Amino acid sequence: MSAPVPFRRTKIIFTLGPATESEAMLEKMIGAGADIVRLNMAHAGHDWTRTVIRRIRAVSARLGREVAVMMDIKGPEIRTGDVATPLQLRAGEIFDFTVKPGAERGGGEEVRSVDVNYQNLVHDIQVGDTVLVDNGLLRLEVLAKDQAHIRCRVLIPGPLGSRRHINLPGVKVNLPSFTDKDRADTLVGLEEGIDFVALSFVREAADVEQLRTFLQAQASKARIIAKIEDQSGIVNLDAIVGACDGLMVARGDLGIECPFEELPVIQRRAVRACLAQGRPVIVATHMLESMITQPVPTRAEITDVANAVYEFADCVMLSGETTVGRYPLECVQMLDKIARRIEAEAEPGQREPAVFSGERMKVLHSAVVLANELPHSKILTFTRHGFMASGLAALRPVSAPILALTPHVALLRQLRLLRAVEPFLMPFAADPDTTIENALSLLRRAGRIAPGDKLIIATDIVSQDRLVDSIQLRTVT
Ligand code: PEP
Repeated sequence: MSAPVPFRRTKIIFTLGPATESEAMLEKMIGAGADIVRLNMAHAGHDWTRTVIRRIRAVSARLGREVAVMMDIKGPEIRTGDVATPLQLRAGEIFDFTVKPGAERGGGEEVRSVDVNYQNLVHDIQVGDTVLVDNGLLRLEVLAKDQAHIRCRVLIPGPLGSRRHINLPGVKVNLPSFTDKDRADTLVGLEEGIDFVALSFVREAADVEQLRTFLQAQASKARIIAKIEDQSGIVNLDAIVGACDGLMVARGDLGIECPFEELPVIQRRAVRACLAQGRPVIVATHMLESMITQPVPTRAEITDVANAVYEFADCVMLSGETTVGRYPLECVQMLDKIARRIEAEAEPGQREPAVFSGERMKVLHSAVVLANELPHSKILTFTRHGFMASGLAALRPVSAPILALTPHVALLRQLRLLRAVEPFLMPFAADPDTTIENALSLLRRAGRIAPGDKLIIATDIVSQDRLVDSIQLRTVT
């Protein structure tokens, strides 16, 4: 058992990699308050995946702190082929991307080329479009195309190595959103009991629905995180938010696919769209990028993390900082420290809670109104399927924590995603009143409630053999 992690409203996701995959490091990261571990399947094999998921579960059990596992599947990706040695592309150079290796082409041998792994690219792309390679380090403009080649001019020069990622801003790429590799990866994840699947490059709600159909066919309760990463995802934002269980603002690719000055606008719009529909939202990528090599972040990074907390995002996420960085533990501690400080600062008037229809949400809304009126109050809820806890979290109570009791460990892990929710595992008794009494004992023992605390209890009670949503106000004795 580790010391309990003090309550923090904003949740922390970190990406697992060589810097953090050892048992000793996992212990430190989870003990420091990380809530969700992300596996980036762009860089993961199946044996590694199984090993680390089992390790995460074992460490969680030992520490008495169950964290969630999020499998981030790669999605459709266009890459360049192999080159024997990196090509140094020159500004103004004419350069070909070849979708049918060996096909005849004009221009003679003086035009250099590289293969691309997607044949239909010639149909999706138009003359005048931009091709970005290797996270935008190389920029080319399309001059002409035929069935086998895309002829470009190099606008921003640089080295081109093997298997570099290609981004095509504004181009609707007709690759499937859930690829064969994604399917194989997800199956392994489901066998190991992953809690979330993050779907990359979600372009429309149908992409999410396709994955949902797949998960249902596997009888999986894993929740779907839709990653918005390109312009189609932004155009269809509201429908995607409606279809998913959570959204990730994947700023790494967004910053390549969209004009960079649009990025803060997109982030704010995406977070607000999630608040409006009551969906959890993750702000991801480059939050503490400089800490990959240095022990302290830049002032701008501190402000960026603070901004996500001020915006009322549910989670902030670390990527390179914790996969290959030199200071992964310090990164979690840094996020923890910034988040706590900003949470203490946020004003009630700043939040934009969801406007919900439906009687059950209105009951939960009354609970949050009550909590906001009563200083030092805490919300207590009992949740079997997550509805109560996620509904309360979506309403963004000002300062009351949401202490959520559930009898299911898998749900407890999924509740780690939600802002202000602190989950606890406890079997429910047949009688709701006994369940409440048991919860109060557990929370007293955990030091989470004390005499004098005002508790707003949102639960269902049995009335004439029916479950009825109810709100109670109790003072802890
Ligand atoms: C991103 O692009 O910001 C992101 C989180 O996705 P990935 O790391 O899979 O590129």
